[in-house]
Amino acid sequence: MTVRLYLDDPGLLRFDAQVVSARHHQGRPAAILDRTAFYPEGGGQPADRGRLGGVEVLDVQEVEGEVLHLLAADLAPGRVEGAVDAARRRDHLQQHHGQHLLSAAFEATAGARTTSFHLGAETCTIDLDAPAARLGPEALRAAEVRANDLVFRDLPVTAREYAPAELAALPLRKEAVKGSRVVVVGEPGAIVDASPCGGTHPRRTGAVGAIAVLGAGKWGSGTRVEFACGERVLRGLAEANRRLAEAAAPLRCSTAELPGVVAKLAEEAAARRKELERLLLTLADAQAERLAAANPAGPVRAVLSPPAAGAGAWAKAVALALASRGRLALLGAVEDGRAHLAFARPRGPGPHLGELVRGAAATLGGKGGGAPDAAQGSGPEPARLEAALEEAARALSR
Ligand SMILES: [Zn+2]
Repeated sequence: MTVRLYLDDPGLLRFDAQVVSARHHQGRPAAILDRTAFYPEGGGQPADRGRLGGVEVLDVQEVEGEVLHLLAADLAPGRVEGAVDAARRRDHLQQHHGQHLLSAAFEATAGARTTSFHLGAETCTIDLDAPAARLGPEALRAAEVRANDLVFRDLPVTAREYAPAELAALPLRKEAVKGSRVVVVGEPGAIVDASPCGGTHPRRTGAVGAIAVLGAGKWGSGTRVEFACGERVLRGLAEANRRLAEAAAPLRCSTAELPGVVAKLAEEAAARRKELERLLLTLADAQAERLAAANPAGPVRAVLSPPAAGAGAWAKAVALALASRGRLALLGAVEDGRAHLAFARPRGPGPHLGELVRGAAATLGGKGGGAPDAAQGSGPEPARLEAALEEAARALSR
């Protein structure tokens, strides 16, 4: 059985060992050592990477109780020097221990228990058993403040096997799944967290650096909380600042002024949209007036030239304006290679325009439908628009 050096000394990153078995696992060279500082994936923490005797360690997995080092090339039997990727280990240690502190904080401040943990390459998440509605921004901040307080107090961390009698005296946050290894935060008599775990943890909480809660959302009947710890907080902050600066540059304001400037812009945009709609309705009404005058009797049939983007909406507005003048309208318009249809008539008895437009849209290779007095359609064959309108007019006179 391999001696797991990372359990007693998570700071040990260089070691020597004996290759006790070289084999292949899932098509890759793999080695088992008499002792290793490489952490195999488990408990939500990804595997270490690094080098063994100059050969790259691509993955480390626990298979049937053995620690299997998956390698980029075969490793000769004998003594070998091992080097664990220090930056990756530190990152995992910060995220994983930060998770312990954040889970303890959510339990203390919100009575929310952690049901699972995921340490990803970009983000980390914990799933809590409390509904998202109970964990609003204030609850998230309260847990974040408490978790960071545990970091800043630089409390001692003890990760070791505990005898059954000791175990019974610990305020365990969750049941031990396998083994009796527990990560305890705080001094005896002032323990702030005790959680069974086989992962790598620092000697003191200060090594986590900082814990940032990034967001939370509904997850089943509970809540998924996204967070980052240590150097990832710094990177995330730099990235957020870069995005803010990028957003502020075209607006010629400082990042502090962004919320006010953006709110004002959104308000102005909504007002302009409303104004544009009002102007288009006025224009559509004038267009309807001209068409009605030019076609004094029978249905008004025409292909329109829309004054702005939105051919379908324009045709519909003109058709409705004609209907309000007591006229039956069969209108078409083309935009971006697509033909649009808008049929309308005064309310009351009369032909079913929804059915009529379906047939006309089919002529355009498209679809349409609507109410008896107002209907729309469109299709990808604008060259057949005149023919489609003509067919509709003929169908009406039958
Ligand atoms: Zn853990």
